[in-house]
Amino acid sequence: TKELHIVGGGMAGSEAAWQAANLGVRVVLHEMRPKVGTFAHQTGNFGEMVCSNSFRSDDDEQNAVGLLHWEMRASKGLIMASADRHKLPAGGALAVDREPFAEHVTAALKSHPNIETSYEEVTELPDEGEWIFATGPLTSPALGEAIARETGTDRLAFFDAIAPIVYAESIDMSVAWMQSRYDKGETEDEQKAYLNCPMSKDQYEAFIDALLAADKTEFHEGETAGYFDGCLPIEVMAERGRETLRFGPMKPIGLTNEHRPDDKPYAVVQLRRDNKLGTLYNIVGFQTKMKYGAQTAVFKMIPGLQDASFARLGGIHRNTFLNSPTLLDDHMRLRSKPNIRFAGQVTGVEGYVESAAMGLLAGRMAAHTIMGRDLAPPPFTTAMGALINHITGGADAKTFQPMNVNFGLFPPLEGLRGGRKGRKERYKGYTVRAKVDFNQWLEAQSSCNA
Ligand code: FAD
Repeated sequence: TKELHIVGGGMAGSEAAWQAANLGVRVVLHEMRPKVGTFAHQTGNFGEMVCSNSFRSDDDEQNAVGLLHWEMRASKGLIMASADRHKLPAGGALAVDREPFAEHVTAALKSHPNIETSYEEVTELPDEGEWIFATGPLTSPALGEAIARETGTDRLAFFDAIAPIVYAESIDMSVAWMQSRYDKGETEDEQKAYLNCPMSKDQYEAFIDALLAADKTEFHEGETAGYFDGCLPIEVMAERGRETLRFGPMKPIGLTNEHRPDDKPYAVVQLRRDNKLGTLYNIVGFQTKMKYGAQTAVFKMIPGLQDASFARLGGIHRNTFLNSPTLLDDHMRLRSKPNIRFAGQVTGVEGYVESAAMGLLAGRMAAHTIMGRDLAPPPFTTAMGALINHITGGADAKTFQPMNVNFGLFPPLEGLRGGRKGRKERYKGYTVRAKVDFNQWLEAQSSCNA
């Protein structure tokens, strides 16, 4: 019978191998460490956590990442089982004792009768066989080049300059207004793609002072090569001159404040719609290395965003990821080479948990293909379904950036109160609906396996 080859034994590749092997498929897991290293990994273990030791919130009723934990546990995931076994006290978060965690993942995979391990770097996308590439944000340069050759270099980002993303419902529309610059755009929908937040001179000056004073993180050694053209952090732009932003991403031209048409704003912060549902907006050009706490404080100084909630904060780091909305189908297969699947951070999700979840789906889907069946992705009312739907179809390909799971990706629930006041009830509603739908998705698979 046909084997499944999985490249990369990180969060996604480890989970993919576990899921496929448990479905009875033979797996060869290829990992380049410890022979070839990355700047962030320290060991040769599978499932190594490269930075923080947190899987974030474990609340499966009010938090989308907690719901993802629930779905992965329901799918008998190895990453969650290992995390639960080696958890550390951390309030509502799931923090993990990283070394025993990775040792547990490694031992479970190495002792699985259906898994063979191969410690070597893979540098090509093979034409034959069933493959999953889960090589992560630090995909080796040789493989990165092979992926770029297959997909076109402009489709493979080596840095993500992440602008913060705000929940639309938390923007004060008595201050902000919808308009594209110079009213560009053919359709009404295109003209509604932008929200604008006006600033007076005093507000702008105070904002620049706050940017300059904010706490920032430093780049890792070796991380900045080849970066810095065209995606400067906003605080670096502000350091180059107090007016730089006003002539860059914050230019006030081509816009009229519909609330105060006679009052010309001194500067304007633009937000662009980030998903088809219109529930998320990113702040245009606001990639930043400010620390998370500083970002929330500084961005809430923007008129209209004083009560903003953030679906994700900004950042800039080395990251290899595909433009999945154009390159992958809804089964995470490369459109141009369907024997190749991608999984994990390289598909444009962000985070340990999200990466492992996409590995879980890829592993199950590839195993089904080998068994001669098709496995449809979970419905997009579930956390896994919402994520895969976003990266392979729901996100705007032109501005595609890596995404954390969040409730803004879920189809809205009818009949529930909007705004901040209804939030608790709404989130509960999303998680209840997700669990029912996810269980159905799992049950359909067990009945077809029987
Ligand atoms: P990885 O876990 O990185 O696994 C990919 C594996 O592929 C690695 O083992 C690598 O050695 C291997 N590999 C690469 N190329 C090849 C090749 N050609 N042949 C064979 N093997 C190969 N997320 C968080 O949730 N919290 C954090 O604190 C966090 N911090 C991060 C810090 C840094 C510096 C980086 C780069 C990322 C961070 N992330 C963090 C983001 C991301 O969620 C993690 O990197 C996560 O581990 C991604 O999972 P993955 O399986 O996609 O990739």
